[in-house]
Amino acid sequence: MMQKKICMLGSYAVGKTSLVAQYVHGIFSEEYLTTIGVKIDKKSVEIEGERIDLLLWDLNGQDRFQDVSMSYLRGSAGYLLVADGTRKNTVEAALLLNERAQEALGQVPFLLLINKNDLADEWEVDHRVVDDLRARGWTVLITSAKTGTRVDEAFHTLAQRLVTS
Ligand code: GDP
Ligand code: MG
Repeated sequence: MMQKKICMLGSYAVGKTSLVAQYVHGIFSEEYLTTIGVKIDKKSVEIEGERIDLLLWDLNGQDRFQDVSMSYLRGSAGYLLVADGTRKNTVEAALLLNERAQEALGQVPFLLLINKNDLADEWEVDHRVVDDLRARGWTVLITSAKTGTRVDEAFHTLAQRLVTS
């Protein structure tokens, strides 16, 4: 049995906990549940006939990247950077968190999720920002933890890279 640790990284209230809840339990809540410390959810996936346990580490929101401790990141096979499409500063925060994660882990697979796709009227993140990141080789998915848009795909894509990288 293969186990892979995945860290959720991103600013406060971008939807990290909601994405995990949608992926693992198929639920969404409007209520803001502050994650105290670290919560670890587990989900088994099958990739190319092989069963893998994803251990999804979700930490209390962090706007300042020094809050992401080495002990949280240690042993991660990959990570999901999460930003909130209605707050463009959360994309910048995700870029800083990415640097932090790369310092700790080296080059491991990651994706950027720009979440809250259902809030189209409040959207702030420019398409060009996304295009630029994609041009740099990033995989960027526009997700909604509320409607479930591209949530399974996000975790599955990362899991696939963990196996093939
Ligand atoms: P975290 O701090 O990154 O773990 O963020 P949470 O998952 O706790 O979400 C923060 C708030 O945003 C909560 O009120 C959620 O209900 C809401 N939220 C999370 N994802 C979405 C989404 O995709 N769409 C909408 N409309 N709200 C979301
Ligand atoms: Mg949370």
